[in-house]
Amino acid sequence: MSSSTSRGRHVERCTFCEKRRHHVTSLIAGPPGVYICNECIEICNSILQEEQRRNPEAAGTQSGAGTDSTTSKPQRLPTPVEIARRLDEYVIGQRGAKKVLAVAVYNHYNRLRCASSEEGQYSDVEIEKSNVLLVGPTGSGKTLLARTMARMLDVPFAMADATTLTEAGYVGEDVENILLKLLQAADFDVERAQQGIVYVDEIDKIGRTTGNVSITRDVSGEGVQQALLKILEGSVANVPPQGGRKHPEQSYIQIDTSNILFICGGTFSGIEEFIGKRIGQEAIGFSRDHELGRSKRLARSSVEIDSLPPMGDPEAWDAYSKFLIPKDLMGFGLIPEFIGRLPVIAALDTLHRADLVRILREPKNALTRQFGKLFELSGKQLEFTDEALLAIADQAIDRDTGVRALRAIVEDVLLDLLYELPNREDKELFVVEADHVLGKASLARGLSNADLQAEDEQTPQMPALPEESDLPDGDEREIA
Ligand code: ADP
Repeated sequence: MSSSTSRGRHVERCTFCEKRRHHVTSLIAGPPGVYICNECIEICNSILQEEQRRNPEAAGTQSGAGTDSTTSKPQRLPTPVEIARRLDEYVIGQRGAKKVLAVAVYNHYNRLRCASSEEGQYSDVEIEKSNVLLVGPTGSGKTLLARTMARMLDVPFAMADATTLTEAGYVGEDVENILLKLLQAADFDVERAQQGIVYVDEIDKIGRTTGNVSITRDVSGEGVQQALLKILEGSVANVPPQGGRKHPEQSYIQIDTSNILFICGGTFSGIEEFIGKRIGQEAIGFSRDHELGRSKRLARSSVEIDSLPPMGDPEAWDAYSKFLIPKDLMGFGLIPEFIGRLPVIAALDTLHRADLVRILREPKNALTRQFGKLFELSGKQLEFTDEALLAIADQAIDRDTGVRALRAIVEDVLLDLLYELPNREDKELFVVEADHVLGKASLARGLSNADLQAEDEQTPQMPALPEESDLPDGDEREIA
């Protein structure tokens, strides 16, 4: 039904979702009695885009660098250099991690492309999958790297938090639910999901621990590691289409995980101590020579080993993480088989003051650009001085949450101004300076609500709120 009367009043509704005019932003009329709302238009649009992406030839367009699901073959792959360069547009710093990730992802999708190739000297060689482990402080860009990578390659992407996972039979999420998320991201296109990227965060928290006292949750973590291990190494998993816990009578969707790239991330807080201890032993000859060789290769020079800072030094992580090898992860209770399935390790650096300033300014969707756009929508301009950005970075560093605090600080600095912005006819350009960040000055005029209201009276009025009778109160009777 697209229009009805409520207590005698004519109410126009979307023919598709049946929402009424005042519950949507706009309602477009078709033939008499037929309407469509902006939300349904958006849904139709995304369905069309999805179809276009799946069948680019029919649509006369080219899809991205991902896979063409009509043939399940990857399109032209960006080279590792191209991948790293694209990552640069969104992720500041982390040069080493970008390089490792770019090579791993390139090899992974190249491996998929060559899987069907029957020619050549190595036609009988099966290249094994190399999942990736990102190790670095909170807010250093691990998730951002994985997410940006998936977007760039136009492959489905799903994210999971390892701490919510439990072994089947315990309270919590089944490991298969990760694959369900991937399937949802691929719009239930199994082929596409099977070539997607999964990011599993907090992987350092599923280590084996002693003193398992819970009978409802697998606190030891080993069961979770075993379950994750299975999907990481490549197996056919039964995914319940509805999500939730597995149920014997449920029907499952089978997903082969052998071509899904898993990127795991964790802070592994304190791992520098394990690295330091190992390097110490290696240096005095308690270790096998090849391991020392590996550490030295990873470091820029052997001199660096001798000049490592003491533990607890702010530079300790950046200095020791260069020497990180899979063996160091065992100190976190990860079982060797699990570590073995994450052969590519990339360490992310701590983000310093200068990096935070770059993060505020440079990425395509940098915070200053996002707010700049908001101001532009109000017909105004917003700028930040270098000193203001440094002051914001300093405050973020003080708050310990580092980069994650940036948004809250910028929002806080701009709140009063944003409140009165539509009423500010006096200025076009607003420049945020250090004093504004430090609270010593304000860009807002501090207009009282009465002032703002008085100014509002000269501007067009907001549409009236819907009448009570139009609200869905359960008491409504529709008269056809
Ligand atoms: P992590 O997964 O390492 O804890 P995230 O990737 O979730 O951190 O980072 C949180 C947010 O901080 C990101 O969404 C992004 O806005 C910003 N951020 C973090 N690191 C970077 C970076 N290197 N370059 C640009 N933005 C970053």
